[in-house]
Amino acid sequence: MLYGFDVGGTKIEIAVFDKQLKEVWRKRIDTPHDSYHSFLEAFAGLVFEADEKFGQKGAVGIGVPGIVDVHHKTVFTTNIEIAKNKPFIQDLEKKLSRPIEINNDANCFTLSESHDPEFKQYANVLGVILGTGLGGGLVINQEIVSGLNGCAGEIGHMKLPIDALAILGADIPLMLCGCGQVGCCERYLSGTGFTWLYKHFYQESIPAPKIIEHYYAKEPKAVAHVDRYMELLALYLANLLVVLDAELVVIGGGLSNFDEIYAELPKRLPRYLLKMMKAPRIEKARFGDSGGARGAALLCLD
Ligand SMILES: [Zn+2]
Repeated sequence: MLYGFDVGGTKIEIAVFDKQLKEVWRKRIDTPHDSYHSFLEAFAGLVFEADEKFGQKGAVGIGVPGIVDVHHKTVFTTNIEIAKNKPFIQDLEKKLSRPIEINNDANCFTLSESHDPEFKQYANVLGVILGTGLGGGLVINQEIVSGLNGCAGEIGHMKLPIDALAILGADIPLMLCGCGQVGCCERYLSGTGFTWLYKHFYQESIPAPKIIEHYYAKEPKAVAHVDRYMELLALYLANLLVVLDAELVVIGGGLSNFDEIYAELPKRLPRYLLKMMKAPRIEKARFGDSGGARGAALLCLD
């Protein structure tokens, strides 16, 4: 059996798959924040519960937020304070007496999508998560590309391209990012960025679903806002595609439910791509919120 873990600041989720990748069990618990010991115990509890349930010692894969050095199994976690700078994979391997596979959660998301029966035909898949942040992953031939520092696919921390000034105005502020840099695309294009941009232009804080509602009601400010956002998203994605020439782009996160994205991007991309390039297939994620745990389980394949 394959056990995939999706770990976040608020919950730890395990999903169990058989060898045919059929999900057979799933359980979610709150992430403990009182001690490192209870954090480890929470994992172990779920693994041993699954072992007992299925009468075997399952293989464990973990997807975590933050940057992962897959070679040394070191996690530079950003929002699980209790495990910060702790050798939690090594400690967990000892506790569970088995090796553990680990990777970044956005990479796991992309791996999961690339294993969708319909998407398996694509050798070069780019995952883009438009959520609270802007995450990404790159999967080539069904394998995650991690890079020297585990940073491959950290697409949210690319800087705003110069053409963005033509879309957003030359006075667009270079916002400070959680990574310590300024002007990272995450601040403008994530779900949070979507509402920030609206506030920047109209001095009103409106949640993303409300802005989208206004857009469909043809409210002029929302229409202009979505137009700017789509243009910036197309420019940004085109830059990525010039480097990666992905065959498939899969979009996840809260904003991925805004269906205009799939109508607008193919129309707007050619303006920014090289002349001989055609836009790739762009799809909404098939596995939604459950993709992270599924992708983590897939880390254990072969
Ligand atoms: Zn950044």
